[in-house]
Amino acid sequence: MPSRMRLAADLDVEGKRVLVRSDLNVPVHDGAVGDDGRIRASVPLLRDLLDRGARPVVVAHLGRPKGEPDPATSLAPVGERLQELLGAPVRMAQDVVGESAAEAVRATEPDRVVLLENVRWAPGETSKDDAARGAFADRLAAFADLYVDDAFGAVHRKHASVYDVATRLPHAAGPLVAAEVAVLERLTSDPARPYAVVLGGSKVSDKLQVIEALLPKVDTLLVGGGMCFTFLAAQGHAVGSSLLEQDQVERCRAFLETGKVVLPVDVVAADRFAADAASEVVSAEAIPSDRMGLDIGPRSVELFARSLAGSQTVFWNGPMGVFEMAPFAEGTRGVAEAVAALTSDGALTVVGGGDSAAAVRALGIDESRFTHISTGGGASLEYLEGKALPGLTVLED
Ligand code: ADP
Ligand code: MG
Repeated sequence: MPSRMRLAADLDVEGKRVLVRSDLNVPVHDGAVGDDGRIRASVPLLRDLLDRGARPVVVAHLGRPKGEPDPATSLAPVGERLQELLGAPVRMAQDVVGESAAEAVRATEPDRVVLLENVRWAPGETSKDDAARGAFADRLAAFADLYVDDAFGAVHRKHASVYDVATRLPHAAGPLVAAEVAVLERLTSDPARPYAVVLGGSKVSDKLQVIEALLPKVDTLLVGGGMCFTFLAAQGHAVGSSLLEQDQVERCRAFLETGKVVLPVDVVAADRFAADAASEVVSAEAIPSDRMGLDIGPRSVELFARSLAGSQTVFWNGPMGVFEMAPFAEGTRGVAEAVAALTSDGALTVVGGGDSAAAVRALGIDESRFTHISTGGGASLEYLEGKALPGLTVLED
């Protein structure tokens, strides 16, 4: 990781109020927390801060409220789960920087955590106006002596609690941010070769930037998922009613000219987008006009596994098919198994992307079979594209 980034462990925190930006953005339905992975991942930093006599004040977002209080996106259920997992009291403020928050911060003791309400209830958090964001960041900063960012999933956002507040307080990276950056650095600076990237998911245009940035650096790029059909079309094949981004075909043709791109040779083609659709495996070079490709086929899984064999570095983003429906999950399972097998051979294997990580869990594949599963899909892709991430840049100053 960049040596200029100070770590939370290096801060003298005893007796200090530490504003901690955590990623607690978990699924919550009717007040019940679903997959609590992100809450669990946030515990070690808070535990460490409490052990060292600090008074953590946690700021986090949940869902996409529109800059105003919205009970459906209250962090209250998250606070309860955090308290259980942390084994220390979590005092929940009723607002973000209002009277309730100020009172909770004033009264806090070194043996407990204060959790502010959903930071996206405050319009200043996501404002495009620097002054509005800055004014809100001033109020957050007034709550603490130090700032620690442990929310990797948000570092690509120029938001008040991610960016502006770090310009106002002595700051450091938390262990989650440090771990993510360390892995991404291994992918970008001198990766062990052969280096293969597997991309899938639904939208080509979302990922063309990352393909453009990665192609010169990788030895092989395997393309599956909904994005492969634009590449197949660029080779002149009929893709039926599969996902196709006609305006990206030219660009995909240029990518194919590098000779590094491997495409599926067969696909599972369905007569409609449904779990109970009629489907069959067809050649990727001739998808019937009334069929849509919803997964890569078994010969493609074998081809991808063969192409990956021997790789020392693998980055995988995007499911190979509509894994949410069982008949179209086998391509993703096959590729996940092939990548996981490389981990045991000593390769660095990284899974990035919200749906890719969800697919690994949904398919019952043990997460420990990969070197690293990134918690921040958008943030890790932007890092690999070589973009400057505001939340990281600000920590380096
Ligand atoms: P990630 O979140 O890992 O970056 P994306 O958001 O890009 O992944 O894409 C995930 C979605 O892509 C999944 O919901 C999956 O159902 C969909 N998908 C994968 N293959 C296809 C396909 N052939 N046709 C339509 N959708 C697909
Ligand atoms: Mg996604």
